[in-house]
Amino acid sequence: MKMLISGEWIAKKETIDVLNPLDGSLVDTVPRGSAEDVDAAIESAVRGFHINRDLPAHRRITILFKAAELMRERYEELARTIATEGSKTITEARKEVGRAINTMTISAEEARRIDGETLPFDSAEGSENRVGYYFRFPIGVIAAITPFNDPLNLVAHKLGPAIAGGNSVVLKPATVTPLSALKLAEILLQAGLPGEVLNVVTGPGGEIGEALVRDERVRMVSFTGGVEAGERIAKLAGLKKIGMELGGNAPVIVDEDCDLDEAVESCVSGAFWAVGQNCIGVQRVLIHGAIYERFRDAFAARTDRYKVGDQLDEETDMGPMITESEAKRVVDWVEEAVAMGAKLLAGGTREGTLVRPTVLEGVAARAKLGCQEVFGPVVTLQPYGTLDEAIEIANSVDVGLHGAIFTNDLNRAFYAIKRMDVGGIMVNDSSDYRVDLMPFGGVKKSGLGREGIRFALQEMTEPKVVCFNLREPD
Ligand code: NAP
Repeated sequence: MKMLISGEWIAKKETIDVLNPLDGSLVDTVPRGSAEDVDAAIESAVRGFHINRDLPAHRRITILFKAAELMRERYEELARTIATEGSKTITEARKEVGRAINTMTISAEEARRIDGETLPFDSAEGSENRVGYYFRFPIGVIAAITPFNDPLNLVAHKLGPAIAGGNSVVLKPATVTPLSALKLAEILLQAGLPGEVLNVVTGPGGEIGEALVRDERVRMVSFTGGVEAGERIAKLAGLKKIGMELGGNAPVIVDEDCDLDEAVESCVSGAFWAVGQNCIGVQRVLIHGAIYERFRDAFAARTDRYKVGDQLDEETDMGPMITESEAKRVVDWVEEAVAMGAKLLAGGTREGTLVRPTVLEGVAARAKLGCQEVFGPVVTLQPYGTLDEAIEIANSVDVGLHGAIFTNDLNRAFYAIKRMDVGGIMVNDSSDYRVDLMPFGGVKKSGLGREGIRFALQEMTEPKVVCFNLREPD
């Protein structure tokens, strides 16, 4: 596919191969964009900002609804794109398309609700004659940088609210999975979005991503990705708004009186969805000592039944990891934990990019698996005595995106809700639960700001105050 600048599809001599992670076969190529392309894309987006800002809201709403309709028409094609350039099974990919359609639909709906309010100026002494209000106006050019693991819906989470709010965008999708993003751009143009409003440049983050982030014409960087790149971008961005959706290593507390079968099923699914390449995927399961052995045995047995293989096979439960180096890193982390005394309960092996879903117990807190984001199909199990102890372990890391507790005791649920340092806590669901309308984001190093359309729209618009100084009529 080609990249998109100012409504033109641009090819380049130098290209990047997009590979199927299962076997390394070529899916397509995309242009290797340069700093000059970024410059042209931003120049176009500056014009695009004026165009979109001046569109009446009903035009933006029509475009976004139309895009959702076109996505529905291309449902299966989009799902196959996700499952061919990326790791998700075709079943997981279809769910992502459904969510992305929902994201665009909600963006259209929220574009109706960008409102302000009147202000009580006369409550301040000396302001008796003032009347006024504020309304929200778009920020300008938004640089959107997205990761590989939800290559369509995480792009929709940036484009939908940015367009709804009247901004323009330069998008840089993940280099390994650019095709879903380019197809969404194609759909938006077809839905009537003016060409300058959305520009997509493909190429390496370290080069074109940085050129984009540094540019002073860009007024906001909306980034989703790892903590390391997030910290680098925050340093480079200078005086502009930043939204950061970064990593996690979700803790799930399984309390004594919960429904154990339900907890096992939910945690297995939450751990191995998208091969564990999921910012809210279950990583650390903390289980009450009284039910630890029952939970552990059921969890390992359920994991062993997972069918790992070709993402496009309808029977596959879990596909390949995104690259072989990532698959190797994950197995290295498992081996490190085992060398430090952990016991392997399931998995731990790989063939190429296919890693068996892996379960360990007795992982040292200082092992990488104990304190960092594994971003792969690996879960650690750990017993606890008191709820305070479980919460302390849950909070002992430098990230906090989602957490969860399985319990039938409301008091214990509320106790954990108040004390767990996370941006979202699920009760009787795994950390992996998310719908697209909820405020989504983390605390500590998991990020800054919130996505989830209504909340992203707040981040992507600013209040402008209007005040009239009235005089008595003659
Ligand atoms: P990543 O390596 O941080 O890359 C994310 C994006 O940033 C890619 O487009 C990448 O480009 C670009 N990039 C990398 N370095 C950059 C730099 N110095 N300047 C500008 N752009 C740069 O993350 P990933 O491996 O794709 O995704 C996994 C991470 O994303 C995990 O940590 C996961 O938890 C996090 N994530 C968070 C959320 C959330 O909502 N909180 C959701 C999904 C994923 P290239 O592809 O060219 O390297």
